[in-house]
Amino acid sequence: MWPGVALSLEIMETIYSKKSKFQQIDLYQTRHHGKMLVLDGIIQLTEFDEFTYQEMMTHLPLFSHPDPKSVLVIGGGDGGVLREIGRHDVVEKIDFCEIDEAVIAVSKKFLPELGCGFDDSRVNVHIGDGNAFIQKKINAYDVIIVDSSDPIGPGEVLFKKAFYEGLKNALKPGGIIATQGESIFMHQEWVGTLAGITRELFLVQAYANIYVPTYPGGNIGICMGSLGPKLVTPARQICQSIQDQLKYYTPQMHKAAFVLPYFAEKLLKES
Ligand code: SAM
Repeated sequence: MWPGVALSLEIMETIYSKKSKFQQIDLYQTRHHGKMLVLDGIIQLTEFDEFTYQEMMTHLPLFSHPDPKSVLVIGGGDGGVLREIGRHDVVEKIDFCEIDEAVIAVSKKFLPELGCGFDDSRVNVHIGDGNAFIQKKINAYDVIIVDSSDPIGPGEVLFKKAFYEGLKNALKPGGIIATQGESIFMHQEWVGTLAGITRELFLVQAYANIYVPTYPGGNIGICMGSLGPKLVTPARQICQSIQDQLKYYTPQMHKAAFVLPYFAEKLLKES
């Protein structure tokens, strides 16, 4: 996806390497970044910095919603987003739709600090395509998180307007979506497309930018849409016992994530 661009990480050992029904799954032990999960040659996460993305992808929408009882995660086969949702006692039901059960198995076996997310009794795992799953859901969820890979291979369908229309129909009144929004540096076309779709479909739209050293550009976006609640400031306050478990998210970082460089502001306005 990034011709001419690569990140170099020294690999000490290949822990797992197999082609599933959907993609090549590789898990490496790196010299500096701990274990690293790679799908079709694209870094999904490293133990070094996965907390940045998992925390913000989860806590931005969940703290923006005043009372998130039912939550859906699409993608996220590593379990990291589920781990973060598990910190919210207010959540009563967590549906989870992942297309590739091999990713779940690899994470549970080799990445227990992420795979632990599946241990939560509120989680209902569905194996299948997230787009097919969402088209069957109406008025079902307070928050939907799309922790997808990139718009190639099985993830491609999760970057289309029809999928976002399905997300909107699956929300309860006042519902919120948060999706993997690519990079304002490396994927400006995709950022513009996703922002344009969410602005057209949702009453409130916002785009957050976070630091993730191992993602292309060293950052990634979170594209958000809301049927009511504002997104740029938390609707619920985080209690100290949860805050002490985190490394990235704070109420201040919540607000700061939506402050974008001028070129990105213009990109989103023109989208
Ligand atoms: N955190 C990573 C990132 O931001 O790039 C992605 C996390 S996770 C590894 C991405 C997951 O999306 C993978 O497990 C992949 O199998 C899943 N996925 C891709 N396409 C999908 C689809 N159409 N329906 C459901 N899950 C899908």
